[in-house]
Amino acid sequence: MTPGFSQSTEAAEVLTSFGSRTDIGLAREQNEDSLVVAAPLFVVADGMGGHEAGEVASEIAVNTIAAYAPTTADAEALGRAVEVANREVIDATLSGRGREGMGTTCTAAILENNRLVIAQVGDSRAYVLHDGKLSQITRDHSLVADMVESGQITREQARYHPNRSVITRALGSDVNMQPDLYEITIEEGDRVLLCSDGLTSMLPDEEIRDVMVANPDPQACADGLVEAALSAGGLDNVTVIVAKANDARPKQQRRMARRTKITVACILIAVVACIGLAIWGGTRYLYNSAYLAESDQGYVQVYRGVPGEVLGFSYSLLVESTDIPVDELSSSAADNIRNNLRVGSLDEALDLVKSYREQIKERKEAPTAGTSTADTQTNTTSADEPAAEGGSQ
Ligand code: CA
Repeated sequence: MTPGFSQSTEAAEVLTSFGSRTDIGLAREQNEDSLVVAAPLFVVADGMGGHEAGEVASEIAVNTIAAYAPTTADAEALGRAVEVANREVIDATLSGRGREGMGTTCTAAILENNRLVIAQVGDSRAYVLHDGKLSQITRDHSLVADMVESGQITREQARYHPNRSVITRALGSDVNMQPDLYEITIEEGDRVLLCSDGLTSMLPDEEIRDVMVANPDPQACADGLVEAALSAGGLDNVTVIVAKANDARPKQQRRMARRTKITVACILIAVVACIGLAIWGGTRYLYNSAYLAESDQGYVQVYRGVPGEVLGFSYSLLVESTDIPVDELSSSAADNIRNNLRVGSLDEALDLVKSYREQIKERKEAPTAGTSTADTQTNTTSADEPAAEGGSQ
């Protein structure tokens, strides 16, 4: 058994959690599967050739891909790494490592944030579990896959077909071999499954889905799938990698978006509060103000509010109609009242009314009645001036 190259990087683990397991199964003498678990790179290779050749091919493949794979989700670059692996397997055959005719499948994936790229050769598979739905991403390079596609057999019949192990493309035979490339976007929480046919030949997709749904943890999921394959017969080596997309970048973006929403909401609340406060304050100011005006009959009237209209609304309320004739006030006071004399408060307005009454009362009681206090200066001047004027003439 050769579990293959496995490592993990600290940076990658922040983004992706994963689990894996490989098992020789219950019927084979050797495990010809190899795997790489080196997030963000994950590879499953299913070797063939027998007699210690299959595991050589699959191990060369995974080690070469691990050495040449890009560190980012670059499908083309991952495909080139698989092509290098193909040549390495061929060279190994020619140089006497392994045996002639040895080969391997290869399902190589890079999961970077929510981007998944895959380079595919053979009948190992990649699936994605999204919202409880399992989708096969890769297309098998196998005889039965072609038969299913052409409608000759069903997908279920393919699992039991006598030629189910015949693959139509592999690493190790054709120097011009090219992998199929896939690029897809997955969502946080989605799980990617890479597996050898030791899983898919033992379990239908529905059962694989059920085990995955029942085991959210990637390692528990990998263990559960292998156990299920063994329970179903374990006729082949079975290898499983489960990687879970923990998408750090979108999470940050969502956090940013959430913060932006909260900020916008706070600003809106603040704006509405300011407007409300301004309206409340303004209304309160308007109603707390007061003014004096002249009635149609020529008397002083006291109003709460302000004269006229503000923004189309009247903020004026008659508080008192006095018996003080405006004509009897000083000319300046009368002018002010006729022009709607605004004061700061109702109390101030009432104090003014009180002072007007006193002025009128004092004037009536004074010996030189008929002259208001405010007019005294003018009248005095008028009384005194003519003598001077007459003297000069
Ligand atoms: Ca196999």
